[in-house]
Formats: sequence, C-alpha cells, structure tokens
Amino acid sequence: MKRFLVLPFAFILSLISVCDTFAWGFFAHQRINRLAVFCLPEPMSAFFKRNIVYLTENAVNPDRRRNAVKGEAPKHFIDIDVYGDSALWKMPRRWQDAVAKYTEDTLQEYGIVPWEVNRMKYSLQKAFERKDAKGILRIASDLGHYIADSNVPLHTTENYNGQMTGQKGIHGFWESRLPELFSDKYDYFVGQADYEKHVQQRAWNSIIAAHSALDSVLGFEKKLNAEWPEDKKYSFEQRGNVTTQVYSREYSKAYDKMLGNQVERRMRASIKQVADFWYTAWVDAGQPNLDDLLDFKLSDEDLKEQEEERKLWQQKTINVRTEESAMITIDEILFGSCCNHKDHRSACKDGHGH
Ligand SMILES: [Zn+2]
Ligand SMILES: [Zn+2]
Repeated sequence: MKRFLVLPFAFILSLISVCDTFAWGFFAHQRINRLAVFCLPEPMSAFFKRNIVYLTENAVNPDRRRNAVKGEAPKHFIDIDVYGDSALWKMPRRWQDAVAKYTEDTLQEYGIVPWEVNRMKYSLQKAFERKDAKGILRIASDLGHYIADSNVPLHTTENYNGQMTGQKGIHGFWESRLPELFSDKYDYFVGQADYEKHVQQRAWNSIIAAHSALDSVLGFEKKLNAEWPEDKKYSFEQRGNVTTQVYSREYSKAYDKMLGNQVERRMRASIKQVADFWYTAWVDAGQPNLDDLLDFKLSDEDLKEQEEERKLWQQKTINVRTEESAMITIDEILFGSCCNHKDHRSACKDGHGH
C-alpha cells in the first residue's frame, strides 16, 4: 500500500474513476463468505464459525494473486458472448466436452469460471475427506470467491467494463459502488444450505442468471447517462487521505432504483450458492466429524508463510485485464483490510439456531 500512496495524485484519481475496483469489491466478497457461514447446518457450523475470520479475510485472495500467478485470471470470469448468440445454452457444460469443441487455449482466453467452481468443489470435498483443516479453509474461501464472481453480470461478457459501449467504469460502478452505498439495506436471509446434486449445472445456472441480467446492467446505465449532465454524474469523496472521483450518490441511487434490487439478488444468490457448495462438498466427503478439527489453529509458520505469499503477490505482476489489475490496493484504501461495514449475521437466523 505504501508503494501505491506515493504515486501521483492524478494517477490515483484516474485509476479509481475508471476502475473503481473489481470482482464484487473487497467487502462484498468478504460479506458473501461471511454470511454463507451462518447458513451451514449444525455439524459444520462450529468449525466454520470458529474460523469465520479466516474465511472472511481470505475471501479476496484469488484477486490478490491474479496479477502474480499465471493461469489465475481466467478463473474469475467467462466471456460467454464471444461464442455466439446462443452460447449460453449451447456451450458444453462439462469441461472435457468444451475443450473438445473449442480447445483449452480458447477456453482459457475467454475465462473458465463455471468449470473452476466445479473443480474447486471437488478439491474441497477431497480436503474434507482428508480432514485437512488448513486445506478446507483455504479452498472453501477460494471457492466462495469464484462462486461470487460467477454471479456478477459483467463477469460473463467480453464488454466487461463497458469499454465496447462507451460505459467505461461500469464494472466497478455495479459491483462495488452500488453495494458500498446500498448493501446495508439488503435482505440477506437465504435460509439454510441445501444439498446440490448437480454441481456443474448449478455452476452454469449462476452464469445464466448473471448473463441474463446484463442487458439491464448496460441498458439502464446508458439511458441514465444520456439523461444526466456530466457534472451530476460524478462527485468527489474523501477516503482517508485520498480524494477520489466516484459516481455521485444521486446518480448511483437512480441507477440502483432502475435495477430494482438486482445487486441484492445477485449477492443473495452468491451467499446461497456458497453455502450450498460448502455443504455439498462435506456431504459428498461422507460427512466427516468436523468437531475433531475444532482445535485447529494456523501455526506461526503458517501465518508467516501467508504473509510472505501476499508480499510476493503484491510484487509480481503479469499482464491481465486492466480493470482487474492492481486494484486490491485501492480497495484496501477505501475499505481497510477488513470491511468497515456493519455485519449481517442474521442471514440464516430463521429456524436454524444461528
Ligand atoms: Zn469484477
Ligand atoms: Zn475475482
């Protein structure tokens, strides 16, 4: 972060105004993982609740490493529209079938999130089978991240930042600015986790739902933009020591109203899917007794290793899409290392004793 703060002010401004942030924003990811914990049934909840801080804080690890780790970036999105008009329905659901049809290089180029979600669910199942506490936590928090990304409309299109329709910045506007302003009012009650029999298909269902919302995401902003004068569209806000250009509250409110709870619906769908997939992985692993793992604590060595790893991710940079690159630092400036927003522990309070 220190390295970032010495950058020229104008550069910071332009970065924030164009990109805002990425991938549901820092705090939305954290909130989704956190709230999913409260949806888990009794045999899982003690272990997950005990480690809720880990699951929350590490919800953005995949974004932290996307600039540093080769092969990481495509796991966060799928540009389904590059495959043609009805690709949403025609794309083979299974990885091997899709590779046979399009080659792995092509799939990697345009993103692999629905298959990654399926693969990570299987890895989580394996970690449960080994009763590997560290592995369970690491994989569960990563899986939560990819599921949340797969529920974001702008993670399902080549026009991911409105760059093809003159709406540059809309990525962060939808997934960061709107939740930042309005998510405290959202209803997060999604009920208890359910077993998911068709994991790969469900991973596609979130893409289908997200992509189906894309027309409104882009269309409403375009309409609004045409009606609003430029000086009312943006405003400046003080974030710590940094003055940032942001979409104004009034403009954001008008957009949110037009979207009619769409962001809330995608966040709720994310929370439910994360809980369902954690639970399903545990069931498919034979329902191991997680109470045996309640004494687990990351060792000093683990913590040191974690710290080193994060430093490495910050230092290394490989080429990835610009709206997704190097922005974690901005989120850390805006929201701190953990979100300042108030918690919604009540996501699953109804009848499940959480
Ligand atoms: Zn994003
Ligand atoms: Zn991501």
